[in-house]
Amino acid sequence: MRKPIIAGNWKMHKTVAEGVAFINAVKNEVEGTDVEALICAPYTLLPSLVEAAKGTSVKIGAQNMHFEDKGAFTGEVSADMLLDIGVTHVIIGHSERRQYFGETNETVNKKAHKALQKGLTPIVCCGETLEQREAGETKSHCKVQIEEAFTGIAAADAPKVVIAYEPIWAIGTGKTASSQDANDVIAFIREVLVGLYGDAVSEEVRIQYGGSVKPANVEEIMNESDIDGALVGGASLEPSDFLQLVNF
Ligand code: PEP
Repeated sequence: MRKPIIAGNWKMHKTVAEGVAFINAVKNEVEGTDVEALICAPYTLLPSLVEAAKGTSVKIGAQNMHFEDKGAFTGEVSADMLLDIGVTHVIIGHSERRQYFGETNETVNKKAHKALQKGLTPIVCCGETLEQREAGETKSHCKVQIEEAFTGIAAADAPKVVIAYEPIWAIGTGKTASSQDANDVIAFIREVLVGLYGDAVSEEVRIQYGGSVKPANVEEIMNESDIDGALVGGASLEPSDFLQLVNF
């Protein structure tokens, strides 16, 4: 059984005080659910959020990291730095990073390798643009993104990776892929994993859907056969919404 994973992606939102207040509001409510609950926050908040979540099952993740261990990379943060403060997860290759910050399939692959080598859980994002969807290229595009993200990753490590399928046209737009559509693409991504690693490994990999998930649609999405969680931007900013997501 794949444990569902509901992850908030706060993007560039919240001060330390706001973030800590959020964790304090949700941390006891999350206990006892069968869901992995994760908040991915801006770097400046991470040490305080880890501290606030200590002793609870709420996990804290970053939204990016560099693939090198150290060096002259102004503005970057390494896997060791994240581990040093108790971060457990890291989003890799979010479409906003691909669009605005030059992330490529190659850098996603390097970051996934580094995260796994260091013991961080990578959440590797993939997904098509509206133009690609309308041209019927959704699956071929996701296949390339997944194959290139997993290049050189051993079968023993593949199940440690979480994949987030996030159609770009559905992110922050209020437009959601229908749950069947999302499930269809996610089932296809699992087939791609079968091609890379075989059935047993592919059955272990958790694949989230992301794109305007909110309390009103989370249950329908989570009821689909191949969808193992959600990566949520806007609707993860309020504690009451996040708790509804976790309690889908
Ligand atoms: C995201 O940030 O990954 C995302 C899916 O955002 P939203 O839920 O706001 O569409």
